[in-house]
Amino acid sequence: MDKHHFFRDTWAEINLDDISKNVQSFKKHLPDDKIMAVVKANGYGHDAYQTAVTALESGAEYLAVAILDEAIALRKRGISAPILVMNRIRPEYVNLAAENELSITVFHKEWIHEAISYMKETNLTLNLHIKLDTGMGRVGIKDEEELLDMASLIDKSSNLHFEGIFTHFATADEWDSALFDEQTKRFKNQVETLKKRGFAPPLIHCANSAASLRKVKGPFNLVRLGISMYGLAPSMEIKKALPFPLAEAFSLHTRLIHVKKLMPGDTVSYGATYTAKEEEWVGTLPIGYADGWQRRLSPGASVLIDGERMPIIGRICMDQCMVRLSNRKEVGELVTLIGRQEDERIEMDEVAALANTINYEIPCLISSRVPRVFVKNGRISENMNVILNF
Ligand SMILES: *Cc1c(COP(=O)(O)O)cnc(C)c1O
Repeated sequence: MDKHHFFRDTWAEINLDDISKNVQSFKKHLPDDKIMAVVKANGYGHDAYQTAVTALESGAEYLAVAILDEAIALRKRGISAPILVMNRIRPEYVNLAAENELSITVFHKEWIHEAISYMKETNLTLNLHIKLDTGMGRVGIKDEEELLDMASLIDKSSNLHFEGIFTHFATADEWDSALFDEQTKRFKNQVETLKKRGFAPPLIHCANSAASLRKVKGPFNLVRLGISMYGLAPSMEIKKALPFPLAEAFSLHTRLIHVKKLMPGDTVSYGATYTAKEEEWVGTLPIGYADGWQRRLSPGASVLIDGERMPIIGRICMDQCMVRLSNRKEVGELVTLIGRQEDERIEMDEVAALANTINYEIPCLISSRVPRVFVKNGRISENMNVILNF
């Protein structure tokens, strides 16, 4: 871990081999579906570009992001695979989207009229996916007439291509959910209605990770794979009944920068919330809440040193935090905050539970101040390592 273009002793390690394994497992699990790798939010904090490249090498054929800027950033880095932008873009950016060969989500008739007027002087083609709201209550159309109107508007325009139709589940991660069944039914019906009127977009998709793991059945031919591609279960419920093991790709590490002995009565950090009861060894870590190591994680969180768990003590500061050591350690020793050391492991789910949130949020919040290093083919890959820039 020497030759990286950054100078700090805190980093996240992204095991791209794990991402590759997870994509391949899904491919085996759902041999008839195409895989769309969801790399929004910088690949859930894992690095969108490296995740995209790895997923595409491992069997994914499509990518998805939330916003236009994320899609253009991938294009600028040379990704040529199809990319779906799942959130709304402004109609005035349709030509920019078309020039970048992006697929755009649409759920409003008026938007299509505006898109047509922006595109009519061009010979560009824009791929569109219609989004249905079958029960998520976020974005999407609910009305069948509007759906049919939109489909024919797209069909009639020489600048627009009806590439896909999709919806998103609100409760796919709960085993017993009437809403999940209801959403599946509504989606199937809407797809059926379209087909009866002669519209057959090539991509029909509804499943996120949770629905993919439970193999939702229907006239669908693509799954949008997010959290579980990174090796995390969509919920604790689903985690208990995974059809195949997931490999957690993200780990977080730092090194001791200071080791000192406390005397009984000595206190640690802001607010002096921790008091030593006896003589004890304390280590300082160069990671804090500005790195996304949230203040609320202490008390509660532990770290691994020499394969042994040790608790974080006192308040987590902006750039540093302290850990109670079981015995004297050396400055420079490896500390793992998320991940494995010898037989001990701190899972993302443990950290999420301590932060009173879900695993999705933890790597997303690890800030751009924490460099990502990548493992590929079993080795830390030197030529892929990013220069830390913010
Ligand atoms: C983020 C997102 C996904 C991926 O969901 P996971 O639970 O991470 O698999 C799929 N579809 C849409 C519309 C999303 O916003």
